[in-house]
Amino acid sequence: MAGEREKTFQFVVVGGGIAGVTCVEQLFTQIPSADVALVTASPHIKAVTNHKQVSRTVEEFDVEERPPSVLEEKFPTLSVIHSAVKSLHAQSHCVETEDGRVFGYGMLCICSGGRPKLLTRGSPHVLGIRDTDSAQEFQKCLSKAKRIVVVGNGGIALELVYKVEGCEVIWAVKDKAIGNTFFDAGAAQFLIPSLEADKPQEAAPCKRPCYTTEEPGGVQTFTADRNVHKHGGSANPGSALGPDWHRGIVLRGAEQVSRRVSVEYQCEVVKIYTPEELLHSAEQTLKPESAGSWPVYIQLTNGKTFGCDIIVSATGVVPNTDPFLPGNSFALAEDGGLQVDDHMMTSEPDIYAAGDVCTACWEPSPLWHQMRLWTQARQMGCYAGRCMAARFLSEPVEMDFCFELFSHLTTFFNYKVVLLGKFNAQGLGSDHQLLLRCTKGQEYVKVVLSGGRMVGAVLIGETDLEETFENLILNQMDLTPYGEELLNPNIDIEDYFD
Ligand code: FAD
Repeated sequence: MAGEREKTFQFVVVGGGIAGVTCVEQLFTQIPSADVALVTASPHIKAVTNHKQVSRTVEEFDVEERPPSVLEEKFPTLSVIHSAVKSLHAQSHCVETEDGRVFGYGMLCICSGGRPKLLTRGSPHVLGIRDTDSAQEFQKCLSKAKRIVVVGNGGIALELVYKVEGCEVIWAVKDKAIGNTFFDAGAAQFLIPSLEADKPQEAAPCKRPCYTTEEPGGVQTFTADRNVHKHGGSANPGSALGPDWHRGIVLRGAEQVSRRVSVEYQCEVVKIYTPEELLHSAEQTLKPESAGSWPVYIQLTNGKTFGCDIIVSATGVVPNTDPFLPGNSFALAEDGGLQVDDHMMTSEPDIYAAGDVCTACWEPSPLWHQMRLWTQARQMGCYAGRCMAARFLSEPVEMDFCFELFSHLTTFFNYKVVLLGKFNAQGLGSDHQLLLRCTKGQEYVKVVLSGGRMVGAVLIGETDLEETFENLILNQMDLTPYGEELLNPNIDIEDYFD
């Protein structure tokens, strides 16, 4: 049972990440005098800056860490409580913080994010990157490292492998191609040369592109000249972990090489060994020549064992639900997230959730799916704030348009990347057709068609196609008459559909 309440707020938001901060901002936009508490475990809050609406659903922004006082100055009726929530008492509508205080709420929004799935706990040589502190910890360890193993195939792994210099990188991916979370094998083939060569190669666009789904066949090794890749910026310990989290940080190892990346495809981790464990292991086959000389060893399902200085676990996040579950009866999704409905409401009364901690369990638009990204954390936080305010004001609220179409703008390997709709033909089975255009080193354009209608696209490079394709996806025009002309580089497609 919780102790005596210090205060009861109309709204309590837990978490100072993008979702929580956006939710707070939205509450104040609709109810300027709202009585709101933001309870956050981190000393800084994350703020969205330089927000730019690129098209109807595609947006671009930076994320900065700021002192919470910035929010308090902006919203005089906001109380920022610097402590982690220790427990939630959903029935009596209150939260208890680590420092022993109890706060009541009328409505609560849980935006506690996620934490990296770690391969193992307690090893100083196995790191997960989540926030500024962990990024700096990695940077420190890397400066003495000669070889690291990166496990994972999502956005963090992609950027990390590209960014790390002065150190051998072994990259273990469970799929047939790199970047499987975001791309297909064709896009991966387009990006792979960026790990070895650096100057974009000039080549004429080819309508039928160099697309291969062949298995990469075990290991691919690339070595780049140290002078070729220059990454701007010096070490900046204060820099925020935003969509460009790696830009402000120098990720350099102890070696002279610029980059040496070996990709181990289609494998997962069997076991992580200390040098002693490896030496005394009964499985003699595990012992590589260098047994005992590395601080940590990793055995993969492809039968190989590598010694290295650091293992980076970049295999996704687990929703941060632990403090909220005991004593309550939240419906949880398969991925461990708090289930939310089309008003961002959990299964517990008056409790909403947004961002990485939640799992969207409404019937989604055929062109939208959840991915744990900044963009969606912002959109969900904003929509949760709108829903809470609307309920408070007894006003109706409609589903935000951003949930009509999945869109994500980011950069990988220095290329602008726009992903739209079912960009990887997710859930379409064989009922789809792909159109591709690729200019090596310059652009990669993939369109996913279903029943002659565009349902998704991957745009890598400065294609300038995002707005037109977004419109074509949203209006579901029958594109059958246009056939392959749709991607003819000699046709100005924007004029075509004007
Ligand atoms: P978070 O940003 O994790 O915020 C959670 C907040 O809750 C924190 O303030 C935390 O302190 C607080 N909290 C947690 N537990 C409690 C508690 N018990 N009590 C009180 N407060 C608590 N996405 C992209 O779109 N593009 C990218 O390029 C990209 N790069 C990434 C790189 C890295 C290294 C990582 C780790 C993630 C990246 N992501 C990227 C994903 C993105 O960071 C997340 O989707 C986004 O931060 C989720 O926002 P959130 O507000 O839900 O959670």
